[in-house]
Amino acid sequence: MSRIALFPGSFDPFTNGHLDIVQRGLGLFDEVVVAIGTNSSKQRYLPVEQMLAILNNLFQDEPRVSVRTFTGLTAEFARETGARYLLRGLRNSPDFEYEKPIAFGNQHVNPGLETVFLLTSPALASVSSTIIRDIHRFGGNVDAFLPFALPPKA
Ligand code: ADP
Repeated sequence: MSRIALFPGSFDPFTNGHLDIVQRGLGLFDEVVVAIGTNSSKQRYLPVEQMLAILNNLFQDEPRVSVRTFTGLTAEFARETGARYLLRGLRNSPDFEYEKPIAFGNQHVNPGLETVFLLTSPALASVSSTIIRDIHRFGGNVDAFLPFALPPKA
């Protein structure tokens, strides 16, 4: 039975830090499903359709990675995709404190679903979607943080 990991997130935008987690996840799992959550109450910076197209293009030569969007509970979506693992990245202790109750909640909804945390690669520890949005919003160059070219905001 193949080991499928769901890597859920807002990915607004998907960064080099996220890419690193996917690549390292491929060393642990047979398949990684990048799942762009669309149920957030937060207003997105990049439309989900744009992020989906960018990621489909980014992973077009990696058959072990697929990209999906989802609404609703992550743990239910994991069941739907056949994933028995959730993949998440940790940069620091606030990330850990944020992730802990989410992992407990997911385990409650889908018993047996294991959340696997990978510590960020040190060089990518400061890469954050929030900072990238702030720089990009005001016309700054964010190429160093992204695995794709992001056109200036219209
Ligand atoms: P969410 O809105 O669900 O927190 P994000 O898109 O911000 O989603 O992040 C998805 C996952 O990637 C989270 O587990 C987050 O901690 C992790 N992550 C974000 N940036 C990095 C990074 N630079 N290195 C490693 N993991 C990261």
